[in-house]
Amino acid sequence: MDKLVDFSSMSVEERRDWVSQSAGFTPEQQNLLRQEGGLSLETADSMIDNVIGTYALPIGVIRGMVVNGKEYLVPMVCEEPWVVSCAEKGAKLAAQCSGFHATYTGSIMISQIQITQVTSPHVACLKILEHKREILELANQADPVLISLGGGAFDVEAKPLDTEVGGMVITQLLVNTKDAMGANTVNTIAEKVAPLLAQITGGKAYLRILSNLAVHRLARVHVSVSEEVLGGSAVVEGILAAHAFAWNDPFRACTSNKGTMNGASPVACATGNDIRALEAGAHAYAARSGVYRPITCWERNYSGDLEGMIELPMAVGIVGGTTRTHPMAGLLLRMMHVESAAELGMVIAATGLAENLWTLRTLATGGLQAEFVPSLERRKET
Ligand code: NAD
Repeated sequence: MDKLVDFSSMSVEERRDWVSQSAGFTPEQQNLLRQEGGLSLETADSMIDNVIGTYALPIGVIRGMVVNGKEYLVPMVCEEPWVVSCAEKGAKLAAQCSGFHATYTGSIMISQIQITQVTSPHVACLKILEHKREILELANQADPVLISLGGGAFDVEAKPLDTEVGGMVITQLLVNTKDAMGANTVNTIAEKVAPLLAQITGGKAYLRILSNLAVHRLARVHVSVSEEVLGGSAVVEGILAAHAFAWNDPFRACTSNKGTMNGASPVACATGNDIRALEAGAHAYAARSGVYRPITCWERNYSGDLEGMIELPMAVGIVGGTTRTHPMAGLLLRMMHVESAAELGMVIAATGLAENLWTLRTLATGGLQAEFVPSLERRKET
């Protein structure tokens, strides 16, 4: 990584020029970056209902984020003062020690169909599995574009649920949504196959919708940071103590996870992704053992250095939804130079881990207020 120019001493216009040059923006794209808000009322009106205006938030950029050997410019859209700074400092620490190493389990979403009024739920589950081929064939008529790209539904699961209102059967279709987040696609598939499932089981189909707990669509990121780069053994010990606190106390785990998502969600927001889905998936995954835990994990290795990891459901896309309809989201995706939903997901998770790394380092050596409030006060004065 080359030495980066100091952003804090530059004007907004100078930073824009630097980013435009680094990202290879055309003059037209540079003009879009200069348009405050970057969203016309006409486009806004086509995105949601009952539009009365638009609402702008700052776009920050972090440099020096290295994931799998590639260096990224990462856009972050958020309102909280030190979020961008924490992520950038965490990214730079990691970059001094070979950066982040990431993997992705595939763009596999879960489509759920609820069938009620089933007299023998276990037998009904078996019948659903017996009709697997027929169900998949019907499901894959829903999105020919996705099929042409090699995606689509590829497996069927069925489980009985014993509930307060009686027995029911939940069918889950596993769908490869490729480079799309896939919520609409998966919902369409659920609606398509629901009548067939009702017919197979003799029950009544109710809910037909995706699960945001995308356990088959995980981004996993690992980082190793030497004791020397972190600032000594006491800092490593402080971070490990902070992690142990979060692991054993849901009150702390909640704030730790909020801090980690401070890194991930603003990147999802900048790229037009569904941050509510990402947040819901992250917190449900954090509680998957029955106890709410941190989504990151920190350990010391044989050399005394710090090892960190994150594992996060990553339902994000680079096509579909708002990723292409919001012009600024499209531009910021282009700035990142990501070629797939997988690549975007790994960078988002790595940004979460970078944020958590610097936040824990700061907490272990003093505190967030002590580190950031003086610089915030200076900024307000100028
Ligand atoms: P979408 O409806 O725009 O569909 C994406 C389509 O893009 C696919 O169906 C496919 O036909 C096409 N496509 C083209 N190139 C592709 C490629 N390379 N890979 C995959 N597909 C490709 O978007 P979506 O991703 O189905 O849904 C995302 C939207 O749904 C988001 O706006 C989200 O907020 C919203 N949503 C979310 C929830 C939720 O619970 N999280 C529920 C409903 C809707």
